[in-house]
Amino acid sequence: MQKDIATPIRTQEILKKYGFSFKKSLGQNFLIDPNILRNIVSHADLTKDSAAIEIGPGIGALTEHLARASGKVVAFEIDQRLLPVLEDTLSPYENVEIIHSDILEVDVKQIFQDKLADYKDVMVVANLPYYVTTPILLKLLMDRLPIRGMVVMMQKEVADRITASPGTKAYGSLSIAIQYYMKAEVAMVVPKAVFMPQPNVDSAVIKLTRHLIPPVNVIDEDFLFKVSRGSFVQRRKTIINNLQSSLPNGKEKKEIIIHSLEKVNINPTRRGETLSIEEFGRLADELYPHFH
Ligand code: SAM
Repeated sequence: MQKDIATPIRTQEILKKYGFSFKKSLGQNFLIDPNILRNIVSHADLTKDSAAIEIGPGIGALTEHLARASGKVVAFEIDQRLLPVLEDTLSPYENVEIIHSDILEVDVKQIFQDKLADYKDVMVVANLPYYVTTPILLKLLMDRLPIRGMVVMMQKEVADRITASPGTKAYGSLSIAIQYYMKAEVAMVVPKAVFMPQPNVDSAVIKLTRHLIPPVNVIDEDFLFKVSRGSFVQRRKTIINNLQSSLPNGKEKKEIIIHSLEKVNINPTRRGETLSIEEFGRLADELYPHFH
């Protein structure tokens, strides 16, 4: 087997060979610990019949572990300077395809159809660029890609918000937007020392698993997210006050909101952070005819 890319010595060698300098603006914190990488990949439960989608392969640290564990890897890298590096470091692996693009701009659905149609089991596995974690996750989820789930590293604070339960401080509209599509759990907390350069914040890996049955069926998903975002605008305020300021103006607005809350058995003096996704779903459907 090839020598791992992600050892401190080999990473230094590769960076030196290519005169590579890290771009903070692209969230470039590379992993230099093969044990962490093995651990991340094991959470994805890949086999040679699975494929992996990676965002931001960097110099290929995680990519090579994915290439060993799966049948195919498609990786999106924005930084052109890394293309010759990846061609070199990943040359032993024939099952990797690097696509030079911004994951937020590219038509992932089309690429999925073109390159991964043969794979029934596909996971997204990545050490995400922290400055765009949330837009990347939301894009992949809203594109409704036929993936089994994701195993992704991010800032710990964001991981806590994504996996939070109702009634906790971290619970909010991000928890709802992600947990609507996937079961979310923290797989591991990761120390700063395994990155080069070390980030300023703590990191965690989360595992997302697509729901076989959605936690709630709603008339309009976008409207559900609008209602949940609107319910958290001022966390200390009650749901009725938040909805009154966030929903569009209309005749008898307050009465309609109170009536809708009562109809789905939600006390108007509760705070948004106490409502489950199911409750938000029922509430959104009740409000929908009046405010969408
Ligand atoms: N996977 C490597 C590792 O674990 O060592 C690198 C991870 S590093 C945290 C994030 C990577 O994402 C960098 O290689 C960066 O250039 C790339 N990147 C940043 N923004 C991106 C975007 N919008 N689309 C695709 N790649 C991006």
